[in-house]
Amino acid sequence: MPEAQDAITSLTRIAEDPHAYATSWKEKHQRKVIGTFPMNFPSELVHAAGALPVVVQDDRAPITLGRTLMYEFYCGYARSLTDQAATRKLGVFDAFFLVDHCVALLGAVDAMRFELPEQPVFLAQYTASMDEEWTPPEVRKKVESLQTQLEELCGATISQEALAHSIRLFNRNRQLLREVYDLRRSGRTRITSAQMQMLVKSSMVMDIEEHTAILSGLLRSLQEERATSPNLVRLHLSGHFCHGPRPELLDIIESCGAVVVDDDLYTGFRYISTDVPETGDPVDALTRWYFDRNTNVPCATRAQKNVDWESYLLQSLKHSGAAGVVILMAKFCEPHMLYYPELRKALLRSQVPHLLIETEHEGLPAESIRVRMEAFLEQIRRPAATAAA
Ligand code: SF4
Repeated sequence: MPEAQDAITSLTRIAEDPHAYATSWKEKHQRKVIGTFPMNFPSELVHAAGALPVVVQDDRAPITLGRTLMYEFYCGYARSLTDQAATRKLGVFDAFFLVDHCVALLGAVDAMRFELPEQPVFLAQYTASMDEEWTPPEVRKKVESLQTQLEELCGATISQEALAHSIRLFNRNRQLLREVYDLRRSGRTRITSAQMQMLVKSSMVMDIEEHTAILSGLLRSLQEERATSPNLVRLHLSGHFCHGPRPELLDIIESCGAVVVDDDLYTGFRYISTDVPETGDPVDALTRWYFDRNTNVPCATRAQKNVDWESYLLQSLKHSGAAGVVILMAKFCEPHMLYYPELRKALLRSQVPHLLIETEHEGLPAESIRVRMEAFLEQIRRPAATAAA
């Protein structure tokens, strides 16, 4: 549909060059642009302070000067952040805010502090152990401290009303994106995994109201579609924290005869899974959100006794009808590497076919991945063919 394609093209353009978008937003509005980092920072706070929150993205450029600041055995995202700082690509940001979630990110942020002393970095260390009695009040204090720091930086008071308004805007945006997910799961629309990634990624970097306006139009067009893809193997993509896998990789996966119907990628469903409560004190609500997100889509960087990623994954497969899982793991992503054995055991126990693909910042062994994907899809199709015979 041309309208849907136009909307996707325009969001993709922005997602692929978020700094250009942020620069023109800043010129137009004469307000601050704040870089934020995955995976737990509440963008609503920045919005309520009148600034533009932008989740800083991985840059496709090969790592050059950043090599002198960070070892090769850090993940590509952390090394890319460091390199972007060293090559002065982050000039549009007035400051950076983050909620810590892993040592690689902390290392990258230290390197950024070293390289960009004029651009302040604010860190809130949320407790990773979710079950302790003292965790919610501690997290609440951190949300308050982020609020205070933003107020000082932006010279604005964040009122309860402003924060509640921002929460509603971000919830609306997440809801629309989840509707696109629902359409894709149902098979009523054919939206590729690379396109879906661009929809989510653009929501991370754009003015949220502008994004919602484009997304609403896109959704209307998608709802009129009646696509079917009966001969394709339905897959779930899992993993890949902090930044999106390369679109070319997603295209290879689908070009082998598969259709991705669901995911738990960070630049995907993980990012938009959970709304912030809209009633009560908004700081309490942002605190609650931290816990609700981990209950809805458990993360390998948090520890919580009553939920785990593998149970969530198995439940998602039932919901989407995916016949297999492709696990995308960013090389040297420690939290994911350490958690993977649990996922593998659970998938094997439940006889769910799965394939692990490790991604690197530079280089994509396209033909080798294609061969592995074809073999994987054949493995899924064969039992079905045998049963049908
Ligand atoms: S969670 Fe993984 S991808 Fe994210 S910063 Fe840490 S090591 Fe890198």
